[in-house]
Amino acid sequence: MKIIMLGAPGAGKGTQAKMIADKYQIPHVSTGDIFRANIKNGTELGKKAKTYMDAGELVPDELTVDLLMDRISQPDCANGYVLDGFPRTIPQAECLEKALEERQEAVDFAIDVEVPDDSIIKRMSGRRACLNCGATYHIVHIPTKVEGICDRCGSPLVLRDDDRPETVKNRLAVYHQQTRPLIDFYSSRKVLHEVDGTQSMEKVFADIVKVLGE
Ligand code: ADP
Ligand code: AMP
Repeated sequence: MKIIMLGAPGAGKGTQAKMIADKYQIPHVSTGDIFRANIKNGTELGKKAKTYMDAGELVPDELTVDLLMDRISQPDCANGYVLDGFPRTIPQAECLEKALEERQEAVDFAIDVEVPDDSIIKRMSGRRACLNCGATYHIVHIPTKVEGICDRCGSPLVLRDDDRPETVKNRLAVYHQQTRPLIDFYSSRKVLHEVDGTQSMEKVFADIVKVLGE
């Protein structure tokens, strides 16, 4: 099962992708997490990516596409995966489609998690992220058991540099300009399914399971 998560930054793609990965036993592949791991480890890629990420811009396709293609060629992706944060541009979607076509494969489901922009700004300022294991929480909606500490791995949580309100506004503008056109792209491939992302995370997940099947 090859699944793509679509939706604005902060719509809940990562939250849902982790739940999908657990239920269907497929890897959760997040390009944002891969970049953040590179930043944490001080790699050249991390240094390059950070300048774009901190400004709320997209990392250029040249740095992103090969990285993602390498990841989905790993043995653990043989039975499928859930992509979170990729593709984010039409050229990225075309590269993915071409690479899959070469193996007589295609994306099975593109799940669009819909949340209006005004709710997004509130969600992002309350998001707290674990840079160690990739878990995300919300200070009001999805709190941790101990404030500021990751439930999963015990590491301290941070407000991501790119979740500050000034940067979020630019990320939303970039989303509407460069990523939103993917809705039409996947609709024309007949794999698009929209879910209402303003509901509780459990309800959003139940709607996704209706699409993917038990
Ligand atoms: P994305 O991966 O799309 O950027 P996240 O999954 O990180 O978004 O979610 C953004 C923020 O909103 C996080 O703080 C997360 O805990 C919170 N969140 C996710 N789903 C919901 C929901 N259904 N209701 C309220 N808050 C949510
Ligand atoms: P995310 O964790 O998905 O919110 O991504 C955080 C940031 O990483 C984005 O704002 C971009 O700067 C960068 N990024 C992640 N995925 C991609 C992608 N597919 N293409 C370009 N930039 C990306």
